[in-house]
Amino acid sequence: MTDTIDHWLDGKPWTGAGARRSPVYDPSTGATTAEVRLGDAADVDVTVASARAAFDEWRASSLSKRTSVLFDLRRILSDRRDELARVISSQHGKVLSDAAGEVQRGLEVVEFACGIPQLLKGGYTEQASTEVDVYSIRQPVGVAVGITPFNFPAMVPLWMCPVAIACGNTFILKPSERDPGASLVLAQAWADAGLPDGVFNVLHGDAEVVNALLEHPGVDAVSFVGSTPIARHVYETATAAGKRVQALGGAKNHMIVLPDADLDAAADAAVSAGYGSAGERCMAISVVVAVDPIGDELVEAIAERTRAIRVGPGHDPASEMGPIVTGVHRDRISGYVDAGAADGVRVVVDGRGLAVDGHPDGFWFGPTLLDDVQVGQSVYTDEIFGPVLSVVRVPSYEDAVGLVRDCAFGNGVAIFTRDGGAARRFTFEVEAGMVGVNVPIPVPMAYYSFGGWGDSLFGDTHVHGPEGVHFYTRGKVVTQRWADPATRGPDLGFPTHT
Ligand code: NAD
Repeated sequence: MTDTIDHWLDGKPWTGAGARRSPVYDPSTGATTAEVRLGDAADVDVTVASARAAFDEWRASSLSKRTSVLFDLRRILSDRRDELARVISSQHGKVLSDAAGEVQRGLEVVEFACGIPQLLKGGYTEQASTEVDVYSIRQPVGVAVGITPFNFPAMVPLWMCPVAIACGNTFILKPSERDPGASLVLAQAWADAGLPDGVFNVLHGDAEVVNALLEHPGVDAVSFVGSTPIARHVYETATAAGKRVQALGGAKNHMIVLPDADLDAAADAAVSAGYGSAGERCMAISVVVAVDPIGDELVEAIAERTRAIRVGPGHDPASEMGPIVTGVHRDRISGYVDAGAADGVRVVVDGRGLAVDGHPDGFWFGPTLLDDVQVGQSVYTDEIFGPVLSVVRVPSYEDAVGLVRDCAFGNGVAIFTRDGGAARRFTFEVEAGMVGVNVPIPVPMAYYSFGGWGDSLFGDTHVHGPEGVHFYTRGKVVTQRWADPATRGPDLGFPTHT
């Protein structure tokens, strides 16, 4: 017997009409632990109707009421952070401390959204014309949809829904079908925080549900986070249907190590950022760029640390890295390493075929270090999204920056150096949305906005922070006169200021 994971509609679990289901695994055992319902187009109609019906009342709710719900949500999620981390770890595979970290990052967005009265303040101009005042306000867009990836089943939805809902929108979450459990913990938390029914809904599904949402006339805004091909499809389809869209895609993050860097600190950072969460992070480092002449020393320092990583089930406190999310994804990662080896890259540490005692059927893949990787090889060009770190050696700083410029993705990038001038030049020149200086994973705090450049983002607004508020609201400018007009009678001339 496996559990069935329901949708969430009008403040409670809902079965929907869709007949298809998708297996949810425990990646450390390979066992199917649940089945998630996959919605269909009729379920989309019902869910959008619920969100639309809830919109008028929610958008009219006072900022005090909204803030009170958000503060309660913060407290409830904080109280349940261990439960949420366990659910994430059991379906995604990441270690518990990492899952707890993602919950913490999500909570920080809730905290940001608690400041919504301040964030929604408009502008006011008294006496713009004689006895005429002008003010600007921002109002919610309506029904917002969030389509999210498997790798952060709590944090990425929390990048979106607290801000959207605080702004007065209603929200439909379409979580990843691979680890959908966290979405229902969030739904229950919203309900317990006093959010009215219909304001936050969860509709599980795959491409069928996504495509129906993208074209549904009752949907006003779409936030997407996932791989680049799907991000491009979401952006093109939903904008053609007249919706505002922010679609965050994949990544291939470079970490440049200059010869003057602290190599031990750089090696620690490369290993943490390359193999944390089994490399299944959009901000993971996947390419280390070693600027001559430090290549040999740096590769040795990384290799030594890589070999020491303890891989095991996410719930085991001794594990530093968990399994891969599915067997299919594990095999895809393995295929990239095979292709690299066939292309002549040096496999310094080989994670293929890793076995973990007591868990023969888990989706294991060990930390893998590749050296002498060349531009153009698939291990360099493609997003592998696994624990595979590639080292590219270049003669100069200019070559290193050129690599980042020529990369299709522009999500995160980092430089390791002791030279403030070099770091300052790098931050000025480099083509990426998030830059780290001696920080390998430069994820912006919740009160800044998160997003990349190039094929890592379609649309122009980043998520959460001020750009999130902007995305989930539209501007309105009011020009008003209450005094009696100085002169009476129609005047067909162009209005000017007096
Ligand atoms: P994915 O693109 O396969 O899936 C993302 C979402 O799209 C899921 O909800 C999925 O159900 C849906 N989807 C999948 N195929 C679809 C299709 N053909 N048509 C319509 N919808 C479809 O991504 P994933 O494997 O779940 O997540 C990993 C990817 O997400 C990586 O590429 C990673 O870099 C990216 N990611 C990016 C960021 C960022 O901020 N840029 C953050 C996290 C993850």
